[in-house]
Amino acid sequence: MMVLKFGGTSVGSADRIKKVASLVTEGEEKLVVLSAMSSTTNSLVKIANYLFEKKNDLAAQLIEGLRLQYFSVVKELFEKASSQEKMKELINSHFDFLTGFTQDSFTIHEEKAVLAQGELISTALLHYYLEEHGVQSCLLPALQFMRIDKDLEPDHYYIKENLSRLRKEHGECKLYITQGFICRNAYGEIDNLKRGGSDYTASLVGVALEADEVQIWTDIDGMHNNDPRVVEETNPIKQLSFDEAAELAYFGAKILHPSSILPAKNANIPVRLKSTLSPSSPGTLITKNADGGGVKAIAAKDGINAIKINSGRMLLAYGFLRKVFEIFELYKTPIDMITTSEVAVSVTIDDATQLKNIQQELEKYGAVEVDTDQTIICVVGDFIKNEKGIAADILDKLRTIPIRMISYGGSNHNISFLINTSDKEKALKSLNQLF
Ligand code: ADP
Ligand code: ASP
Ligand code: MG
Repeated sequence: MMVLKFGGTSVGSADRIKKVASLVTEGEEKLVVLSAMSSTTNSLVKIANYLFEKKNDLAAQLIEGLRLQYFSVVKELFEKASSQEKMKELINSHFDFLTGFTQDSFTIHEEKAVLAQGELISTALLHYYLEEHGVQSCLLPALQFMRIDKDLEPDHYYIKENLSRLRKEHGECKLYITQGFICRNAYGEIDNLKRGGSDYTASLVGVALEADEVQIWTDIDGMHNNDPRVVEETNPIKQLSFDEAAELAYFGAKILHPSSILPAKNANIPVRLKSTLSPSSPGTLITKNADGGGVKAIAAKDGINAIKINSGRMLLAYGFLRKVFEIFELYKTPIDMITTSEVAVSVTIDDATQLKNIQQELEKYGAVEVDTDQTIICVVGDFIKNEKGIAADILDKLRTIPIRMISYGGSNHNISFLINTSDKEKALKSLNQLF
C-alpha cells in the first residue's frame, strides 16, 4: 500500500487534477490524500473572518466569486453534460452551506466547518473525474476516521480502527481517496490539523495502513538545501534522515508540515518528496539513516519571540528551571530554543497567544525581557560527531550579523541561531556559500 498526498498547487486547476489522475491510476493499491485547490483555504479563512466580523456582504461576494471559479473548473474538467450538471449540484451544496452563514448566525465554532469545504470539494472533483473516465476509486470521508484528542494530538487508535472499518465497507478497491487537513476533535466537531496539515494526514494514514511509503507530491522537486523563496541558488537533497527532515520541517521548510515526519519516523515508513511539475525528478527520500556528512540544509522560522529571565542567584539553584518550564507547560506553549548562563536563561516560543500570561508568571522569578520579530536559522546536517571546524565555518558566514542566541550540541544534526528577522535574507544568502 502506498500513500500519495497532493498539495494545493498539484490540484490547483482542471489540468493539474487531470495530471494527478494520470499519476494515480496505474500500479499498486494506494490511498490518495488531497489538499484543497491552491488559495481556496486562504479564501475560506477570509470568508470566516468576514462572517465573524459580521461583514456578511463581503463574505457573500467572496463566496459567490469562489463558486464561479469552481464552476469553470467543472466545465474544463468534465466532458459529459450529465457529469457537469451533477458536479455543479455538488459544488452548489457546498457553497449554499457557506451562503447560509451570511443569512443566519455564524459563531467561531463553525469556522472549522467553513475551512473544511476546500478538501471536501477537491476530493469529489478527482473522484468523479476518475469515474467519468471509467476508473474506480473509493472516497473515504476523513471526517469519519481522522480524529484528534482533547490535547489536539492525533488519536492513532481511533484512526486505525475506523480507517480499517471504512475500507472493509468498500470491499474490493485499489484506489482510495481522502481529504487531507480535516478531522474531528474529541467532541466530535469538525476541526483540522492546522495550516498545511494535509502532509500530517498523509503520514498519519500511512502509519494506520502500515504503508510501504508515504509520498508528498508538491510544486518543487524535493527538500532544497536552502529556502527557495529567499535564496536563488538552491538544490534538492537526495536523502535525509527522519531527524534531519523533522528539524527542517519544524524550523521553517514549508514543504513539510512541522509534525508530519514524527509518525513516519516512529513507524519507520519512508517518506518521499516529489514534484508533480517534474514527476521524473528523483526528489528527496527520507529514511532512518541517510548518507552524507557536513552541512546538508538551512531553514528559517519567522515569528519567534525570545524571552530572557534574569535571575541572578536563583538560576543556579536546583529546581529553578523546572519552575520556569512549568509556566510554559501551564500555558501549553512549546519552547523551541533554550540557552543558559549563570545569571539568566533565554528561551524562544513561536506561539505568542499566552505570552502576556507567561511573562507575568515569570516576573515572579526575575526581570523578564521579551524580543519580538526574531527568526531562528537552523543549519542541519550530520556534523557534530564527524567533522571539525564546521561550527567555525558556519559562524564565519554570520560574521556581520548580530546573533541573539546560539544552540549547538542538542543533537548531532542541528545548529540554530536566533537573529532579527530583518537580517534573515542576508543570513540565508551568506550561509548558502557553505554549499
Ligand atoms: P503544497 O501546497 O503542495 O503543500 P507548500 O506550499 O506547502 O506546497 O510547500 C511547497 C513550497 O515550500 C515550495 O513551493 C517552496 O517555496 C517552499 N519551501 C520552503 N522551504 C523549502 C525547502 N527547503 N525545500 C523545498 N521547498 C521549500
Ligand atoms: N488546505 C490546507 C491549507 O491550505 C491544508 C494543506 O494544504 O495542507 O492549509
Ligand atoms: Mg503544504
